[in-house]
Amino acid sequence: MLKDRIYKNTPNYLQNFLITIYNIVIYNKRLGGRYKIYLEKFKKNNVLSLEELKYIQNTELIKILNYTNKNSSFYKELYQEIKLNKIQNVKDLNQLPIVTKEDLRGSLNKVYTISKKNGVISKTGGTTGKSLEVLFNLSNMQERFAMLDNFRGAHGYKLGKKTAWFSGKNLLTIKDITRNRFWKTDYWYNVRYYSTFHIKEDFLQYYIENLMKFKPEYMIGFPSNMLEIAKYGLKNEINFPKSIVKAIFPTAESITKEARETIESFFKTKIYDQYASSEGAPFIFECKLGNLHMELQSGVFEVLDTNNKPAKEGRLILTSFTSYGTPLIRYDIGDGLILSERTCTCGNNNPLVEEILGRVNDFIYSPETGKINLGNVSNTLKGTKGIIKFQAIQDSLDEVVIEIVIDKLIFKSNYEEIFIQNWRDRIGNSMKLTIIYVNDIMVEKSGKYRMVKNNIKHLINY
Ligand SMILES: [Zn+2]
Repeated sequence: MLKDRIYKNTPNYLQNFLITIYNIVIYNKRLGGRYKIYLEKFKKNNVLSLEELKYIQNTELIKILNYTNKNSSFYKELYQEIKLNKIQNVKDLNQLPIVTKEDLRGSLNKVYTISKKNGVISKTGGTTGKSLEVLFNLSNMQERFAMLDNFRGAHGYKLGKKTAWFSGKNLLTIKDITRNRFWKTDYWYNVRYYSTFHIKEDFLQYYIENLMKFKPEYMIGFPSNMLEIAKYGLKNEINFPKSIVKAIFPTAESITKEARETIESFFKTKIYDQYASSEGAPFIFECKLGNLHMELQSGVFEVLDTNNKPAKEGRLILTSFTSYGTPLIRYDIGDGLILSERTCTCGNNNPLVEEILGRVNDFIYSPETGKINLGNVSNTLKGTKGIIKFQAIQDSLDEVVIEIVIDKLIFKSNYEEIFIQNWRDRIGNSMKLTIIYVNDIMVEKSGKYRMVKNNIKHLINY
């Protein structure tokens, strides 16, 4: 693009300026309109009782159902045979069919209730390689940012406070890289954007030195990148100063317990996780006591077993209240959830989640043992040392190729044996397993690192 070409040929200070201008325009949109009204409302509602939250949830559900049935020809056709007025609350939702990403993608123009020129386009991440283009109306976008800011605000964050961002935009030029400068800064909002495309061992010391100089109060973005930095810092015994970073807010990827501990111990701070998605899914927020709350004001969370019956653990089916432009009603997002029966004493009465099971669609398939989910794939590291990262690639039913990056000083051949055995425990003995040692694993175009690349999903029928 011409815009990109001009940017790439501009000096560093001007690039910072351009990013600042870009942000001012973007934030004016996000924080304009009804944003402040929403933020005040959600702040006030932080103390609602569970009954009050459920009442709001039912009211919002009826509202979006009626709107969708009237304005989206896709859903109108889908609901032809159903008496919508029989659906009075969340419990009646099971009378409606479940829709998948494929269903929506196939008829997007009929799903939309607004035109592209009146909407804000959001592209979903490419865990499956194909993305879904969702249209938000401006008011819903402002509402979503108000919910997010209400959550981050509970941990002290405010736009304008010094923040390090790790996002999927490639902002660097060749000159930056030769000068070991892996960031750009918006001096108006005090945000420094660190590149997520250059997280290489040789560069990590510059990231850390710069973070120590910049002293961000908050860090936001891909946790996999923060993890690499933290691992490097711990390994090289770099002492990141205490009480600089007040909180870390991961986005876009799910985070394992081990990764969380590593990041928290290096940066000497706490992580507060969230669940959301670019297609407009309802939110799950982590509170100050470390519990995950489903925000009932943002939508309905159904957890279903393989027979589509409500369960404590299973796949997550979502209905969103902030997606009027592209309605998501009983949407199978491809993630799983474990519900919790515990209650929280933090003051927020939204029900708790035990665990978010990440992308249930990111799996390796073994004809012998079935699907091996992302959690189990990451557990193949158990008992090993010195494997910095790996990527499991499946291009055919009978073979898995695993690319691994090792730390040669720590990794020993018996760790390879353990790693292979861990894989065999999961995929069985009949599949071919190929290990390839590589120097690095490329991130996706989106800037995200993927542990699993399954290219044969179409061959698996369940
Ligand atoms: Zn809580």
